Amino acid sequence: MQDSAVESQYKGRLVLIVGPSGSGKGTVISILKKRHPDWIYPISYTTRKRRPTEVDGEVYHFLSREDFEKGIEDGDFLEYAIVHSNNYYGTSKKDILNALEQGKIVVREIDIQGFESIKEVVPAENLTSIFLMVDSLDDLIGRILKRGKLPEEEIKRRMQSAQNEIAKKDKCDFVVPSVTGQVEQCADQVEKLILERA
Ligand code: 5GP
Repeated sequence: MQDSAVESQYKGRLVLIVGPSGSGKGTVISILKKRHPDWIYPISYTTRKRRPTEVDGEVYHFLSREDFEKGIEDGDFLEYAIVHSNNYYGTSKKDILNALEQGKIVVREIDIQGFESIKEVVPAENLTSIFLMVDSLDDLIGRILKRGKLPEEEIKRRMQSAQNEIAKKDKCDFVVPSVTGQVEQCADQVEKLILERA
């Protein structure tokens, strides 16, 4: 039986930003990075193809499927998931747990499956989850298309994932509205929640 009086081994706090593709998670995190360079923003691993605007090692390390599966075998991931039915995404166990041991605030965007896995391994007192909620699915399609042309199939997959994620939004500690054109306000609310709980 777990003894609730036992103190968590971690001093820090992991903040997971959850929400459908296009809900503004990446932009909110880039705003937080500027405001709080002392917080930790761990780089995840994915087998998805790098977009032309992306740099390896900024938000993701881009891996082959073979290398990712080797990482799974070696136990390198705190969690991993197949997202949008086709690619692996995973967070680094070492990077996140080391930062939590050192008492840092760690902020990472993640899909809902990853959030559910992390809830099983990181104590609730060290975890905050914030779901970014868009106005409508139409709004979301508009935002996703703005990133550049995507194949019809990919858009369908992302919409399917969006519906699955939105259905589970209340599992997160907080739901913050992400209104088109008001990303700074969304970042303000996220920042306030993190600072209040830090
Ligand atoms: P994108 O391909 O648009 O960068 O991300 C697709 C989805 O993967 C988003 O919902 C994003 O939050 C999620 N994601 C990004 N990094 C991770 C991760 O390390 N683990 C998991 N499970 N999902 C992630």
